[in-house]
Amino acid sequence: MANVGYDHTPFLPDSEWRVHDGQRPQPTVISPGATSADAPSDAIVLFDGTDLSNWQKVGGGNPGWKVENGYMEVTRSGDIVSKAEFGDCQLHLEWAAPAEVKGDSQGRGNSGVFLMGLYEVQVLDGYENLTYADGLTGAIYGQYPPKVNACRQPGEWQTYDIVFEAPRYDGDDLTSPAYLTVFLNGILLHNRQPAQGPTGHQSLSSYNSPHGPSGPLKLQDHGDPVRFRNIWMRHIKDYDEA
Ligand code: MG
Repeated sequence: MANVGYDHTPFLPDSEWRVHDGQRPQPTVISPGATSADAPSDAIVLFDGTDLSNWQKVGGGNPGWKVENGYMEVTRSGDIVSKAEFGDCQLHLEWAAPAEVKGDSQGRGNSGVFLMGLYEVQVLDGYENLTYADGLTGAIYGQYPPKVNACRQPGEWQTYDIVFEAPRYDGDDLTSPAYLTVFLNGILLHNRQPAQGPTGHQSLSSYNSPHGPSGPLKLQDHGDPVRFRNIWMRHIKDYDEA
């Protein structure tokens, strides 16, 4: 390898590498998608608009959601989960609340994106729809409202880009909570926000029930015909795994 660095520079703190170390391993080369919404070469595509082969009902079985015109749609047949499991990950997903507005508050365009099947980023038609703040579009449900309401009008496609860090346990003891960074339509809603625990309803969350290091992505059937498309994931590697 060409000598591109320096060997007389100081070592970085807690590191075997010097500043500008030419021997430090190079990052893996990947190919970006055509746009930042398109899956890069190392992404795991969970839904490309054609079928639900990467999904199942909670507990197993074929999901009953409708697939047409490049999207999937909730059909009151239950939540669905990805067959693949993820711990630390980057998620891209697009969704649309029903164009025909029905109901109000939590009864309008409600669905949800559950990281590890446990930590919900709320999907809701929050456009001119008053509801409790920690249940608004992009809320870490029941815990933290989004920093802003950046919801588009019903029927319009919207994007979530989420960085999720799984919690860490030492035995039954929590050593690091789950962290969520969430963008809605490119706008920051949560910046590495620690979650209080898996999502609950009308209850406090806690980490009192330790869970494994990975879990599926879950999409919620809340009874409203919400649509999803272009869903892809990337595993996040630590620097020493590069
Ligand atoms: Mg929901």
